[in-house]
Amino acid sequence: VNHKVAVIGGGPAGLMAAEVIARAGVSVTLFEKMPSPGRKFLMAGRGGLNLTHSEAFENFPARYGKAARWIAPLLEGFSPAALIAWCEALGQPTFIGSSRRVFPKAMKASPLLRAWLRRLEGSGVQFVTRAQWTGWDGEALAFADGSRHKADAVVLALGGASWPKLGSDGGWARLLPDVEIASLRPANCGFEVEWSPIFASRHAGQPLKPVSLAFEDKVVMGEAMIAAKGIEGGAIYAMSALLREAIARDGSALLHVDLRPDAGIERLAERLDAPRGGTSLSNTLRKRAGLSPAAIGLVQEAIHNGETKPLPQLIKSLPLRLTRPFGLERAISTAGGIALSELDAHLMLRRYPGVFAAGEMLDWEAPTGGYLLQGCMATGAAAGHGVVEWLQSHSMVEQ
Ligand SMILES: Cc1cc2nc3c(=O)[nH]c(=O)nc-3n(C[C@H](O)[C@H](O)[C@H](O)COP(=O)(O)OP(=O)(O)OC[C@H]3O[C@@H](n4cnc5c(N)ncnc54)[C@H](O)[C@@H]3O)c2cc1C
Repeated sequence: VNHKVAVIGGGPAGLMAAEVIARAGVSVTLFEKMPSPGRKFLMAGRGGLNLTHSEAFENFPARYGKAARWIAPLLEGFSPAALIAWCEALGQPTFIGSSRRVFPKAMKASPLLRAWLRRLEGSGVQFVTRAQWTGWDGEALAFADGSRHKADAVVLALGGASWPKLGSDGGWARLLPDVEIASLRPANCGFEVEWSPIFASRHAGQPLKPVSLAFEDKVVMGEAMIAAKGIEGGAIYAMSALLREAIARDGSALLHVDLRPDAGIERLAERLDAPRGGTSLSNTLRKRAGLSPAAIGLVQEAIHNGETKPLPQLIKSLPLRLTRPFGLERAISTAGGIALSELDAHLMLRRYPGVFAAGEMLDWEAPTGGYLLQGCMATGAAAGHGVVEWLQSHSMVEQ
C-alpha cells in the first residue's frame, strides 16, 4: 500500500517521529516553516547540548511534575539509554558531565543534526522547508504559500512558544480551535526583580555561585545570574515552575537566597561580629564573609530597602521579591500546550483521527538537565510508533 505521512515541524520531536515512521517503510514528508530544520536544537547546542540525564531511571518521570505518570511509559519506550545509543550510532559519542548531565563530546548540535538529517534523507524522508502549515482545507493540509498536501496520517510537532525567532511561536494554537490547550507560559525562565538603578548598572551580567535558593519547601543549589531587570540562571530555572505558579496565585513570590551555602551561620557570625574599625561594609563582606561583588551588592540592596536582619542571617537567607516571569521570548521552554486528556495512549488527538502530536507543544514541562530533549524525543518516537500502528490497524500498512 502506498501510504503517505506528513510530519509538520522539524525540531527534535518531529525528526524523531519521521525517523520511526520511515524506518517502518512508510513514506514521510516533513514540512518545516523555517529555511532549515532544527534551529532551536542548534541553539540548545550553544550551551553544550545537554541531551539527557544519567540519574537512575526510576527518578526520571518525577522530573515531569504533573505529567509524570503520563510520560513514564513513553520514557520507557525511548529511554535515556536509548537516546545515548541513538546519538552514538550517529557518530557522536557522549559523556556524563557535571551534575550527571549527558552531552555529546562535540558539545554542540551541528554535527549530530547534520548526521541525523543525512540519515533521514537516506531513509527516504522528504524535506519541504519554508512550508508554514496554516490548517486544513477539507481533507488536505494547507500551507501559507497556497499549496495543499494530502496524507494518510499527520504528526504535529510544532514546538512551544519560546524563542519565536527560531520558528516555534505557538501560532498553532489557533489552528486547533476545538482542542483544549493549556495557556502557553514561560518555563525555565528568569524573573523580574525591582533592582535599584545603581545595583542593576553595576551587577547585571554577574554570576552568583554557588547559591542555594529556598522557596516554600523546595531548596535548590546551583548558579544564578543577575540580569538588568531581574534574576536568571540554572538554579532559578529549576525553581521556575513553582515560582511562576506562586506569582500567578499571589502576585509575587518571596525567594530566599543563601549567598554562602558552604558556610555555617555560626562561623559567619564569629567572623562578622568582630569590630570592623574603619573598614567599609563592602570590604568587610568581601574579606570576612568571602562574598562576590554581586552578592555584596545584594546585601547592600537589601539593607537599602530596609532589611534589618543581622548580617549573618541576611547572608544565609536574603529575601528577594520576584514580581513576574521574564517573557516567553527569553524562556528556555514553554509550559502549557495541548491538554494530555486530548491524546490517546499513542499520542493521537482524540478529536482528529490520524493526527498525532509530540514534543514541547504538549502540556508537560520539565527542568533543564536534558529532560526537555529527552521528553521531546520520547514523545516524538511514541507518536511515530502510534502512526505506524494506526496505519496498520487501518490496513494501510502491510502487516
Ligand atoms: C537557548 C535554549 C537552550 C536549550 N538548551 C537545551 C538543552 O541543553 N537540553 C535540553 O534538553 N533542552 C534544551 N532546550 C530546549 C529544547 O531545545 C526544546 O525543548 C526542543 O527543541 C523542543 O523540541 P520540539 O521538536 O518540540 O520543538 P522545536 O524544536 O521548537 O521545533 C518545532 C519546529 O516546528 C516548526 N514550526 C512551528 N510552527 C510551524 C508551522 N505552522 N508550520 C511548519 N513548521 C512549524 C518550527 O519552525 C520548529 O522548527 C533549549 C532551548 C533553548 C531556547
